[in-house]
Amino acid sequence: MTDFDVVVLGSGAAGLVVAARAAEAGLRVGLFEKGEALGGTTALSGGIVWVPDNPYMHAAGVSDSRDEALAYLESLSFGMIDPAFAEAFVDTGVEALRWLETTPVSLELLPGYPDYHPERPGGKPGGGRSLHSGLFDYRQLGEWAQKVIPSRMPWISLIESPLGGGDGRIPPDVLEQRRRDDIRGSGQALVGGLLKACLDHGVELHLSTPAVSLLVSDGRVAGVGFRGSDGGSVEVRAGIGVVIATGGFEWDTRLVTSFLRGPMTDPAGVPTNTGDGLRMAMQAGASLANMREAWWVPVVRIPGDEAFGRQRSHLILRERTLPRSIMVNKRGRRFTNEAANYNALGGAFHQFDAGEFDYVNLPCWLVFDQEYLDRYGFASSPPGAVPPYLTSSETLDGLAREIGVAPEGLVASVERWNEHARQARDPDFGRGDSAYDSWSGDTSQAGRLATIGPLDAGPYYAIEMYSGTLGTKGGPRTTIDGEVLDHFERPIPGLYAAGNAMAAPTGMVYGGAGGTLGPIIVFAYRTGTHLARTGVGASAG
Ligand SMILES: Cc1cc2nc3c(=O)[nH]c(=O)nc-3n(C[C@H](O)[C@H](O)[C@H](O)COP(=O)(O)OP(=O)(O)OC[C@H]3O[C@@H](n4cnc5c(N)ncnc54)[C@H](O)[C@@H]3O)c2cc1C
Repeated sequence: MTDFDVVVLGSGAAGLVVAARAAEAGLRVGLFEKGEALGGTTALSGGIVWVPDNPYMHAAGVSDSRDEALAYLESLSFGMIDPAFAEAFVDTGVEALRWLETTPVSLELLPGYPDYHPERPGGKPGGGRSLHSGLFDYRQLGEWAQKVIPSRMPWISLIESPLGGGDGRIPPDVLEQRRRDDIRGSGQALVGGLLKACLDHGVELHLSTPAVSLLVSDGRVAGVGFRGSDGGSVEVRAGIGVVIATGGFEWDTRLVTSFLRGPMTDPAGVPTNTGDGLRMAMQAGASLANMREAWWVPVVRIPGDEAFGRQRSHLILRERTLPRSIMVNKRGRRFTNEAANYNALGGAFHQFDAGEFDYVNLPCWLVFDQEYLDRYGFASSPPGAVPPYLTSSETLDGLAREIGVAPEGLVASVERWNEHARQARDPDFGRGDSAYDSWSGDTSQAGRLATIGPLDAGPYYAIEMYSGTLGTKGGPRTTIDGEVLDHFERPIPGLYAAGNAMAAPTGMVYGGAGGTLGPIIVFAYRTGTHLARTGVGASAG
């Protein structure tokens, strides 16, 4: 195998951005992917990108400013966001977007998508910071089109789905045309565009090549040891830098239980994200940060719904926001605003009772009535259908007994909820108070009624929910240019980190839709730029 200026590990958004940016500056870049296909969790994603104060929102007449963006992040920081990173994110956002415009990636405004905490200082209840990936023609990728991890609905753009404010109804002939021409949306479009940029700039791509160790020479990370497809080992040298962009450690049970702040049983991303980059960074003496945090998300397990040969973690986003549904714990009690953003719900899952020495809200269930099913359906089942995997009963008491929840608790919770629902309010948890709460609800209903409605039409249904994640967000600490730091605040020469593999610059925060990919792209862009400058400097020297 050839030697390179830059060796990038991992082919999600982070790895592809660093690789494309460094290669466009003329560096010889090799990108190595552990899986058989490219794109990582990014390829499964909605492809939404959150960047405050962006030109797309300004063009649409939505105001924003540096100060508002920083105030927003600070209000959610709890001391976990380094102001230097918040400033670098906000100050580089526009430059990174302008650079993306020079690549085949196309981003467009996702109008109206509220920030996830829009009533906080600097928050945007009317949206503007969330951008979605426009459709991408995979025919441009030639043979590489078949080497991207397929998602479940590759032909749909996020803006067309109910999550993005659309109605999800795409005319069958349009869908057929896209299928025939291999025109893909969402995360597939983002990966496709970035991959094309890498190919255009001559990045050398290797699949099924997991990195297993760093090669260190004279205190400098000078290359990487890989396990080859034949099981043997291969060493590749990197003259300027090695970039760890290997995603999180969500699929490694030992790392998960060692580091995450609470239970997380159901990861939703690619199973190759097992913390390999974290181990290599530790091997090189990296200082770690943000290790307790992840992009939390509630999920359900639908029998027979598999991904990568195992149970798929089906994200529960809109389902718990729609009226006529509540979430309850084993006492049968509601415990949170069900319509709050998924990342914040992680906090509710991690609540611990000192007396009982137990997690109060795990296990928990989503409960709804027949009218809910008739109007909205559930997950991928259409309205009116009754998915066989739901537990059901004619009465709430019966349902509680079926799922092992305190019957008197569930009956009392529903009575209380119904009483408040008649007044369209939730004094217990404030559901419907935030502009965010109704975004994914029943938008044919006004105000809080988009998310608040009684459970009074049996039979009643329940499904267990689990604590999942889109990816972990702890890892090696870096400078704002992605240089990995040792325990004495010194950059480890030649070692960089990007994406979910690095200590996320956002602490606990998921700022809005696209809140993971936004910072990931901006900081990966900075890292690629830094490598390019270092490379030019090295050749001049
Ligand atoms: C269903 C779903 C929808 C989502 N939608 C959105 C959204 O719309 N907006 C948003 O902001 N976020 C979204 N997310 C989260 C987002 O997708 C991730 O946070 C992001 O893609 C992570 O990017 P990454 O490049 O850091 O990691 P990844 O995209 O996971 O890429 C990491 C890659 O590294 C590879 N790798 C691992 N170990 C090695 C090794 N030893 N050697 C070589 N390669 C290795 C992996 O195989 C993988 O391909 C979503 C997540 C899910 C699951």
